[in-house]
Amino acid sequence: MTVKIKGFIENSLIEWPGNIVSIIFLPHCNMRCPYCHATHLVREPNELESIPVTSITKKIAQNRDWLDGVVITGGEVTLHHDVDLLISTFKELGLRVRIDTNGTNPHVIDDYIQRGLIDCVAMDIKAPLLEEKYRDVAGGFCNVRDIEKSIRLIMDSGIEYEFRTTVCPSFLDGADIVSIAQSIAGSSKYILQAFRPNNCLDDSMLNVVPYSEVEMAGFAKEAQKFVKNCFVRGEEMKVLSSNW
Ligand code: SF4
Repeated sequence: MTVKIKGFIENSLIEWPGNIVSIIFLPHCNMRCPYCHATHLVREPNELESIPVTSITKKIAQNRDWLDGVVITGGEVTLHHDVDLLISTFKELGLRVRIDTNGTNPHVIDDYIQRGLIDCVAMDIKAPLLEEKYRDVAGGFCNVRDIEKSIRLIMDSGIEYEFRTTVCPSFLDGADIVSIAQSIAGSSKYILQAFRPNNCLDDSMLNVVPYSEVEMAGFAKEAQKFVKNCFVRGEEMKVLSSNW
């Protein structure tokens, strides 16, 4: 297996609400979002030591009795060969698998869905689906048609999914959030993540003042007109726990 693993969290109760999961981090990304917190995975991934795949699969197999699943994140997961083989080892253990993606490789996402490899997809939507706007937020070239394709195939897939947007005041305002929500109208879940000015890919982001909680809640309320299940990150846990 050629896939390089650069980070591993053995267990998390909050990463995939309702599931106890291990988290695997893969290197490299084809975007350069200025606010990205995965700086080490994106900027200098080859300088990070790789964790042997076998040590991780062994640890996960040992924890099988209490683990529900595995989240594979990055970086950008769909850039890598052999991720399907990695996923297959977890599926053979009866674990659920979620991948996180920026949606730039719809054919890979489609392949994983068609082969029944993944149980959930979490896809970032960086901006309204306009080439120039998307490029601003993603920090470079991006084919918005591919983003649209990924959105459609995920919404039509029948598997669990969520869309997410990091709401950074330098790039997005309330009208942009409404525009994104319109483009995913009727989807099952849309999460707004507050921008955090720390450890960002672009140092100039450190001086940007995030939106307030009240402003974020206002964006979510507007987006709920198109996606009923739209929350600010953290709020969905409160809803879940009120149902327990
Ligand atoms: S935030 Fe942007 S640059 Fe960072 S991993 Fe995600 S898509 Fe890549």
